[in-house]
Order: sequence, then C-alpha cells, then structure tokens
Amino acid sequence: MKEHSHASIVCGPYCRFYKPGKEEMACAGLLFFQKRWSEEQLRGLCAKLSPMAWNGSEDESLSATLCRLCEFRIDGCGFREGEADSPPCGGYILLELLLRQGLLQPDDL
Ligand code: SF4
Repeated sequence: MKEHSHASIVCGPYCRFYKPGKEEMACAGLLFFQKRWSEEQLRGLCAKLSPMAWNGSEDESLSATLCRLCEFRIDGCGFREGEADSPPCGGYILLELLLRQGLLQPDDL
C-alpha cells in the first residue's frame, strides 16, 4: 500500500505514462521518493510546491541521480532516448520542480 500511495503523489499528478495498478513497474523516479520520504512527509513537501512547468534545467543532476539507475533508461524511456514530445517520468518532473523552487537542495539528492 505504501508504494501505491507514493505513486498517487508522484506519478498520478506528474507522469503522462502512469497506469494505476502497475506500480510494481516502478522507475527510478518513483523509487527515489519511496526510499527517502514517508507518504506523510512527501505530501507535506508537495503541498509547498507552486504550479510550474518542467523545463529540463536540472537534467545534468537528475540524469545522474535518477536516470543512470533506471531500469527504463534503455528501451523504456522515450525522454531519455531523445524522442520528440516524450516527457520524463513524474519523479523526474517532481524532483526538478522541488529543486527549482528551493524545497530540496542538490545535497539532498
Ligand atoms: S526520466 Fe526516464 S530514465 Fe529517467 S528516471 Fe524517469 S523513467 Fe527513468
């Protein structure tokens, strides 16, 4: 249940590819949040976020922190493969927004 709750916070609002009930196929973007914060902590953190579109400005850091470790990186992530109009996963987008709004620091990764 815990993992599903995280998915509802991270993937539901931020991931175009999210399919409820398929949480066992977690990418590194979701696993990152599952390992570091409880559901309650994560909801509190996200409640402080202001609406903002992702822009890829933290890609160097996020590529090393998330994508390098992700099982979907090869043959599973259109964004990482450079496909046009293929956004990153919800975890990548959420982490980028938290960094850009100063709610997380690079040292927190
Ligand atoms: S953007 Fe793609 S490769 Fe990077 S963590 Fe998300 S699913 Fe994995």
